[in-house]
Amino acid sequence: MDTTNFFNDPGHVIEADRAHIWHHLSQHKTYETADPRIMVEGKGLRVWDIKGKEHLDAVSGGVWTVNVGYGRERIGTAIAEAVTKMCFFGGTAGTIPGAQFAEMLVDKMPGLDRVYYANSGSEANEKAFKMVRQISHKHHGGKKYKILYRDRDYHGTTLGALSAGGQDERNAQYGPFAPGFVRVPHCLEYRAENGLTGEAYGHAAAQAIEDVILREGPDTVGALCLEPITAGGGIIVPPKGYWERVQEICEKYDILLHIDEVVCGMGRTGTWFGYQQFGIKPDIVTMAKGVASGYAAISCCVTTNAVFEQFKDDTDKLSYFRDISTFGGCTGGPAAAIENMNILVEEDLLTNSTAMGEHLMGNLAGLMDEHKWIGDIRGMGLFAGAELVTDRDTKEPVDEKYIAAIVADCMNQGVIVGGTNRSVPGYNNTILFAPSLVATKDDMNQVTEAVGNAIKRVLG
Ligand code: PLP
Repeated sequence: MDTTNFFNDPGHVIEADRAHIWHHLSQHKTYETADPRIMVEGKGLRVWDIKGKEHLDAVSGGVWTVNVGYGRERIGTAIAEAVTKMCFFGGTAGTIPGAQFAEMLVDKMPGLDRVYYANSGSEANEKAFKMVRQISHKHHGGKKYKILYRDRDYHGTTLGALSAGGQDERNAQYGPFAPGFVRVPHCLEYRAENGLTGEAYGHAAAQAIEDVILREGPDTVGALCLEPITAGGGIIVPPKGYWERVQEICEKYDILLHIDEVVCGMGRTGTWFGYQQFGIKPDIVTMAKGVASGYAAISCCVTTNAVFEQFKDDTDKLSYFRDISTFGGCTGGPAAAIENMNILVEEDLLTNSTAMGEHLMGNLAGLMDEHKWIGDIRGMGLFAGAELVTDRDTKEPVDEKYIAAIVADCMNQGVIVGGTNRSVPGYNNTILFAPSLVATKDDMNQVTEAVGNAIKRVLG
């Protein structure tokens, strides 16, 4: 095999990919007639594929990850320096970048103190679930083991995380799942079945969680695991009154509140973390994607000292957290995360996320006036969705094949947007936007113009 020309031979790369790569979330029949897409370079919000086509990426690497944008040399340099000096040491020891990033991180998270490093969002969530289970064994006779999760939320792809998965299309055919995970209803006001709106709906949606707790038995429930804003399940911003009640319920029944910030973390919504938009005081926070913006694999499970202290007991040889993640000891991840956070601060990207998010929402409201197909727009910061319906009164969802066609049409126009495809059966009808936080008004105008054109071409 001659690899000398690999990088100069796009045809060879495409054929090697077609022959050997098993793409994520992909039906490979597609690649019998179409070429796989291969991305080769990025700068800011723009990426170039192997055929030289330029794209404006409005979903930060497809999966809402590249918060600081592409092509940040200083992150590459920081990784190179860290791994050249000390690439790795297993997590029973520490490293300088690991300690430095942990200190920077908890500084942005008042009330939280301890950082457990891992590699992916799924893995960070697994750590949290194991902590809850072990606390149950150590302090509650093994009884407080149930973990509640919400319809439409997603917490990852491993079997434990899928057991807490509220997106049935992601779960289908992978069961049986782990016992002790219990679903609570979603909090999407647009699809409220009780006719309530605003704060009244928020309180009712929180009450639905308490009802499940009472049904299961409060002394059997160890934790509630929620996304601050449901991401892939349809950009669901919880209504007013919801989080206050959820927090009260957790305190009332001594239930740990685990917030999954894998998507919303690192400035995505305009604050460091999504939970900070709602004044929540979580016990456990998990994060991944934007922590190093995809420049390195790193995730964190961050806890309060109160959670951490429950594992300190040298009279019981099983009571420490008996968990390990080999690559949680890499220095490249925290080195990248340090520079990532420095960029977010120096360029004031949280403020930009808020400002550009407002601009994007304004544009989407304009699209809504023009296109009867848009039933609802939702979002916070640079994280937004437009739900498409066939009729605004009945709210019948537009079939997912049209959403896929709209996404494909945008792609032809050189704009990458997302869709809630392959997640919630019957409701894969939302177009998603989560551009890098360096986005400008012009970028957002280009994105919304492309979506408007696509809706017109696909739906009329
Ligand atoms: N949690 C949320 C809210 C997510 O959206 C995702 C992935 O999209 C995950 C967890 C899993 O993260 P990862 O793919 O890094 O395992």
